[in-house]
Amino acid sequence: MKIAPLVTPGGALTVAEVHRYSRHLIIPDLAMAGQQRLMNAKVLCVGAGGLGSPTLMYLAAAGVGTLGIVDFDTVDESNLQRQVIHGQSDVGKSKAQSAMEKIAEINPNVIVNLHQLRVDVSNVMELFAQYDLIIDGTDNFATRYLVNDACVLLGKPYVWGSIYRFDGQASVFWADYGPCYRCLYPEPPPPGMVPSCAEGGVLGVLCGTIGSIQTTEAIKLLTGIGDPLIGSLMIYDALDMSFRKIKVKKDPSCPLCSANPTQTELLEDYEAFCGVLTDEAVVAVKDSTISVEELKSKMEAGAEFFLVDVREPSEWEIVKIPGAVLIPKQGFLDGSALEKMPHDKQIIIHCKSGVRSAECLAIVKAAGFSDAVHVSGGVIAWAKQIDTSLPVY
Ligand code: ZN
Repeated sequence: MKIAPLVTPGGALTVAEVHRYSRHLIIPDLAMAGQQRLMNAKVLCVGAGGLGSPTLMYLAAAGVGTLGIVDFDTVDESNLQRQVIHGQSDVGKSKAQSAMEKIAEINPNVIVNLHQLRVDVSNVMELFAQYDLIIDGTDNFATRYLVNDACVLLGKPYVWGSIYRFDGQASVFWADYGPCYRCLYPEPPPPGMVPSCAEGGVLGVLCGTIGSIQTTEAIKLLTGIGDPLIGSLMIYDALDMSFRKIKVKKDPSCPLCSANPTQTELLEDYEAFCGVLTDEAVVAVKDSTISVEELKSKMEAGAEFFLVDVREPSEWEIVKIPGAVLIPKQGFLDGSALEKMPHDKQIIIHCKSGVRSAECLAIVKAAGFSDAVHVSGGVIAWAKQIDTSLPVY
């Protein structure tokens, strides 16, 4: 499939720019006009992590004029195994800031827009509208469906990549010319079925392979060269060292990008869309759910209980309920958290919005803590209803 260049060529190159980009300029298919298109392009990378690292570095080196970076996270030492845009001295720094500094070192001509936020329903449309193309470097389903839906509604190409252990996938979703992410994956996987890289691990260099495919596709779309991965899914197996390309068709019943869409705006809550409860959790929360008001009353009454926050440390850093103890969900999945549960106090579990806490409640109750409960709406409900001075994310 041949597609017209996404970007019109910008102004003439300076002598220094001709020198810098000379290896591009002498490729006949790319040449001066292609380089001018790259320099006039605005690309948004969602996430400056594993996939975002090579993507941002190569796009900067290639001379893409404006790079937007969306990331609210800070650099952690455990990121450095694969997130090569960050270095040892960046640990503790904002990822967006760290990435911007590395880009300035690679190519000072690039304009970098920092968006130090979590992309969500309230900001995604305005944010994406400022860019020609969106590259997704995130690894959670809620964000992928959100990014996809916003791209379809805005008519933007969505360059997607996914990594896990030794396996990677990449594609380009652009509803104007082919399928969208929902045509490929109409439903999010059941909770707990697909572990994240944080849970299951990832070979660091896989980020380079898949991120480079995403970057290549972005450059092809911006400049209108080659055949993009629209309607194709690239599947990479590092252990076999094999690439397979399979066709993906537009789903005639896709709620979003079919001829008669049933969904014409963003969903209200992507976390909820992707965070459907397991059967065990549905049973566990029955008659074992308290509201944030009930939690506050218990605190004020001086009741004895053990409040467990099962979120991740990065979320804990953003906002927490006073008196809570952080024990991330993984500890419940592998059983190690159960040793830390007291037998002489009621256990109250909470997370961000009430999905993960429900899963953990099922495990705790199955282990014999029959009076355990979880908090409906989690820390977000607490921040919105009990202490509005707290941030939400
Ligand atoms: Zn679709």
